[in-house]
Amino acid sequence: MKCLLVICDGMADRPLKALSGRTPLEAANTKNLDAIAKGGICGIVDTIAPGIKPGSDTAHLAILGYDPITSYTGRGPFEAAGVGLDVKPGEIALRCNFATVDDSGIVVDRRAGRISEGTNELATAINNITVPGVNFMFKESTGHRGALVLSGGEFSDKITDSDPHKEGVKVREVDSLEESVTAQTTAAGLNSFIKESQKVLESHPVNVKRIQEGRRPANILLLRGAGVAPSLVPFGEKYGLKGGCIATVALVRGVGRFCGLEVLDADPSTGIAELGSIALEAMDEFDFVLFNIKAADDATHDGNVQKKVKAIEKIDSVLAGFHEFAQENYLAILSDHTSSITLKNHTGDPVPVVIAGPEVRTDDVSTFSERSAARGGLCRIKGPDIMNILIDLMNRSEKFGA
Ligand code: ZN
Ligand code: ZN
Repeated sequence: MKCLLVICDGMADRPLKALSGRTPLEAANTKNLDAIAKGGICGIVDTIAPGIKPGSDTAHLAILGYDPITSYTGRGPFEAAGVGLDVKPGEIALRCNFATVDDSGIVVDRRAGRISEGTNELATAINNITVPGVNFMFKESTGHRGALVLSGGEFSDKITDSDPHKEGVKVREVDSLEESVTAQTTAAGLNSFIKESQKVLESHPVNVKRIQEGRRPANILLLRGAGVAPSLVPFGEKYGLKGGCIATVALVRGVGRFCGLEVLDADPSTGIAELGSIALEAMDEFDFVLFNIKAADDATHDGNVQKKVKAIEKIDSVLAGFHEFAQENYLAILSDHTSSITLKNHTGDPVPVVIAGPEVRTDDVSTFSERSAARGGLCRIKGPDIMNILIDLMNRSEKFGA
């Protein structure tokens, strides 16, 4: 028996005036989700705890059964692992932005004119510089984003960001947040790295061309979110299941990698329908697959109600092929957190969940939504309960007691 866990990122929402008091999930036409809800057991989930607003990273950790309080060490390491950098436990990783500064070091554009081309060439040039005492690896991600890993030495994540997080002010020097020599050498090493990388960026042909074309050059890296890579019990060891992960978002791919899931090829250009086929095909090879679909969360951060409703309907159409899988195996569908169109951000409201498969105690819920699922047989559970319930349904759980 196998298990497919579908995480519809940020699909849950609050009732909206623009939808006459319905949530986007209630307003959307979701015949497949409704059918799965009818044939399964529903409930609502506080992925972290009631009222706690989860990030996608902490929510995914919790759903996979990892305590987010101890296993989450900052966004840097998860983002870095997600873009494909090899981050080992104990190493320090940071998130980076290609940005534009003027001659006096004032940040003109935190996204370097939304640069989308040539960042791999810039990354190669950056990786060719040497900084005394610091071994590093930089990798570009989507758009203006990138990640940096420090290895081969004693480094600390107790340092400040160089990113001022706003435009019109100077880039900050990285500073140590504690008196330790390690934190001070890390800060000094990163300041040297920023200066050296700035030199190669300023004269790089990609930027020379951008300036000629009247576009903003990516002439500096802004660093933020330093974190020490965690050491987590691999998923396979924890549950005895061979696990895979399908996600287009670097952050979720990074969570998968740290948890020991095999992260399959997929990128933001891969369509939802194709991802759905990849997920079903992957069930031949894996016992467990986490399948993250990002579309509804993206629409939420854009604050676009109609786009969110359409994204949910698109997700629903892909799930048409998942019914059959749930005849002999388990299919769980939930959101990682609520995402509010009004706030264009995540909230701490619980999310709906459905589990379908052999011998589940079906309930009276016949549509899949935030409010209908609240009347389901799973009642109100927490993120880490999901894996326990699935493992038990798969008859793989250990007895507690005699
Ligand atoms: Zn999310
Ligand atoms: Zn989000």
